[in-house]
Amino acid sequence: MSTKRIVLLVAALGAALFIFGRPSRAADGNFPIYFEGAKLVVKAQTTNRTLYLPVIEIIEFMGLPYTDSLALETLTIRSGNSRLVVTKNSGLISINDQIVFLPSPILRENDHWLAPIDFLSRGLTRMTRTEFRYRPGTSRIFAGVVQVPELVMNAQSLGSITRLTIRCGVPVDLKLRRDEQNNRAILMVGRAVDPLRERLDHKDRLVRSISFDDSDGDPKILIDLTNQVADIKLNSTDGNRIFFVDLLRKGETITEAPVPAETPGASPKVDPTQAARRVRVIVIDPGHGGMDTGTKSPTVLEKDLTLSLARKLRTALQMRLGATVLLTRDSDIAMDNEARSAVANNNQANLFVSLHAGYSSNKLDSGSSVYMMKEDFGDGFATAAVSRDRLFLPWYLGYRLNQQASARAAKILQDELIKAISGSRFPIRTAPLAVLSSATMPSLLLEVGNLNNTVNASTLTDDGFQKRLVGAIADAIRIFSETEQRSAN
Ligand SMILES: [Zn+2]
Repeated sequence: MSTKRIVLLVAALGAALFIFGRPSRAADGNFPIYFEGAKLVVKAQTTNRTLYLPVIEIIEFMGLPYTDSLALETLTIRSGNSRLVVTKNSGLISINDQIVFLPSPILRENDHWLAPIDFLSRGLTRMTRTEFRYRPGTSRIFAGVVQVPELVMNAQSLGSITRLTIRCGVPVDLKLRRDEQNNRAILMVGRAVDPLRERLDHKDRLVRSISFDDSDGDPKILIDLTNQVADIKLNSTDGNRIFFVDLLRKGETITEAPVPAETPGASPKVDPTQAARRVRVIVIDPGHGGMDTGTKSPTVLEKDLTLSLARKLRTALQMRLGATVLLTRDSDIAMDNEARSAVANNNQANLFVSLHAGYSSNKLDSGSSVYMMKEDFGDGFATAAVSRDRLFLPWYLGYRLNQQASARAAKILQDELIKAISGSRFPIRTAPLAVLSSATMPSLLLEVGNLNNTVNASTLTDDGFQKRLVGAIADAIRIFSETEQRSAN
């Protein structure tokens, strides 16, 4: 009993030292505390720039018995043989008669005991061994051994679409809900996560705000939309660890399948086995466009060559495979790399092929190559010595899951091109290609010829050559489709 009196005396001192600060911005509001298998949402309030939590609710939730002594203005909490005593207006608490300092005093307002967040780790943890983890500036606490993966969000305007990329340390089951009334998209996360940022600094024609919210204990991402948004697509990759949420603008035709360019009167020779094929949707990406002309020869610009080849390839694939073939652009427009792979991702394409023409300062060079994506982050990458900013890269390596299928496709394409174009080698190269890196399906980039080589340039624009080239690519895609079908069976 005598120790208790000493505690009270010291407590009074602590109260006297209590410094009043100016009122701060409110962090008040709902505050979830995630325990293992259970969560408690409490109301937090800011007083004197300190965030306070209600003590009784927390200790009742933890099943700790307590005695609330109005006369002594103390609250005594028990756990096994341990005893913790807090005193009104005091920053000193006693745990088994040992004094522990809190940075701010315990308050008692309107019959409610309020404690600064540090009370959890400095008080309750010492008594109960339950750990509490809190990151200043956030509004949630993780308690006990509960494992909480980080959630990383990043948003970008990609020409006609807006993409939100979400990455989580463990697989999550993200569910998209559209709240038409409030013009909002809601992504339910379905488990406790630790968002690296609560809110993204991103606004554009489609998005008013993007924020994380778990104030009701249900973690979710809120996307406030403008009335320009027509459609929202959710794609995942890397075993549900990475998600792409693509907002599509009204009147956007990019995701619509172009009308098949059929020869009038002729019925397309559609292979009857097409329904069983693995490759049903193919996205062809004509490199460059608009202001970005690509490389050039005196007679042709790369952007025009790639578009013309892409259109021919579309027709060939529609005829031979009966596949749905989409072009990332079907006119002379500029597009960034992300938007190109987004077309493939949004349409759940099974194959993505980007077409380019080569350029070599050596005019005699006539090299063509088949490229596959390979990240080139230097040695540090493998050892996870990757800065967080780097993980924010939009092209978060969607290609990885399909690396082997991409390699198979590259080999087949190489074989077919060598067969069709005599004297060609078409080596398979790897490079950190942004246009392929976030494609969530097997993807390739084909670079043909050397526009700086006059002979090469005129060959490339030759109709007969283009037919053979397109025929070889279409054959390769058909073979790839069949072999993927077999390997899947
Ligand atoms: Zn190019």
